[in-house]
Amino acid sequence: MIIVVKKGSDKKQVDNLLKWITHQGLKVDVSVGDNSTVIGLVGDTSKIDIDLVHSMDIVDTVKRIQEPYKCANRKFHPEDTIVDIGGHKFGGDNFQIIAGPCSIESEKQIIGIAEAVKKAGANLLRGGAFKPRTSPYAFQGLRENGLDLLVKAKQETGMPIVTELMSIRHIDLFKDVDLVQIGARNMQNFELLKEVGRMGKPVLLKRGLANTIEEWLMSAEYIMSEGCKDIILCERGIRTFEPLTRNTLDLSAIPLLKELTHLPVIVDPSHASGLSRLVKPLSLAAVGVGADGLMVEVHNDPPHALCDGAQSIRPEQFADIVSRIDIMLPLVNKVKK
Ligand code: PEP
Ligand code: MN
Repeated sequence: MIIVVKKGSDKKQVDNLLKWITHQGLKVDVSVGDNSTVIGLVGDTSKIDIDLVHSMDIVDTVKRIQEPYKCANRKFHPEDTIVDIGGHKFGGDNFQIIAGPCSIESEKQIIGIAEAVKKAGANLLRGGAFKPRTSPYAFQGLRENGLDLLVKAKQETGMPIVTELMSIRHIDLFKDVDLVQIGARNMQNFELLKEVGRMGKPVLLKRGLANTIEEWLMSAEYIMSEGCKDIILCERGIRTFEPLTRNTLDLSAIPLLKELTHLPVIVDPSHASGLSRLVKPLSLAAVGVGADGLMVEVHNDPPHALCDGAQSIRPEQFADIVSRIDIMLPLVNKVKK
């Protein structure tokens, strides 16, 4: 349920209304915009008497939200949420680029790539330490050692770091991680989502391999219902009947999500196609449909990458993509800061 408070309402009366709602066992989310204040109610709102609320002087409108996602709903929070990761903002008119290898392989590799992508225009560094691989015999990531190397790359370059958390057991290892990635395979690992929501860190939530937009927003809702407000959604392609690409990039999800939710939405063109030569056109397409950023896999030596070499681009190809994005951004009213 949302309650829209009349512009210029007495603060004391608004506070009394908030107190009255929380006394009934509900949580509130207050979103103050330029033209109105929206109070979102979370919990069992069936006991709230809509007519009574409507009759209050300060109340403009009261509406029940039909969609099952509440905190993530744009109706709940009409303004774009801006997620700030170490001074780099996602959402609103900001455009951010996260880049780095699929997996951290060595100190030389991660620091070398970090320096190269930073020079080319990336603001955040990605790199997997715990890798979700289809085969248990494939490279599983450098795990704790990988995290240490990623933190070292952060110290060397000043770039905030993004890496995937696969298990509740590893949460304590993530204290220096700036943005916690929940991968496609764990999008509906609800116990993990609840714990991540309590970590006090921003979360990058990737879309599940074959999940609907509503299921994805419900996963964001799991994290938000634990108190985390800083979530960035990442469209990384979904499984379809098409075997020529690893996944099918659902570009229509981006403008649709912009209507449905206030959360920033970025695109991963690397996992979306699985093909390095498609990374450039898909990156530019993502900018065109209004994405708030990109996450791109970049490797210094793709043929010898320990994971996802076929979709990894070289630093110079990445630099070329960034220079074209810079040309496009004014057309979509975005800025790369
Ligand atoms: C990744 O980002 O390296 C990854 C494993 O992505 P996804 O969860 O989208 O497959
Ligand atoms: Mn990968």
